[in-house]
Amino acid sequence: MCDYCHNIQKWKRFNVPKDYLACIEYIQQLVTNGGFELLEEESTCPLNQVKTEDGWADEIMVHVVWCKHCGQVFTCVVSSPVSWSACSSL
Ligand SMILES: [Zn+2]
Repeated sequence: MCDYCHNIQKWKRFNVPKDYLACIEYIQQLVTNGGFELLEEESTCPLNQVKTEDGWADEIMVHVVWCKHCGQVFTCVVSSPVSWSACSSL
């Protein structure tokens, strides 16, 4: 990690869907700001498509971004969004 990315917000777990959506929104901001890039091949769907009209895009949703300054990779994983039983940090 570098000075640029060690301060980014991280979530230990998501207790409610709102937390996850906040995280996704935050990742989107990081990408928009230009310091991070989404690794689309490692991610299950585009950031703006985690929620669809039918619910969640997938049972397990993964988004991977990397810091363009130092190459550090950050992963946001949520499994079974319906029950929010398990997840890991950004
Ligand atoms: Zn960095």
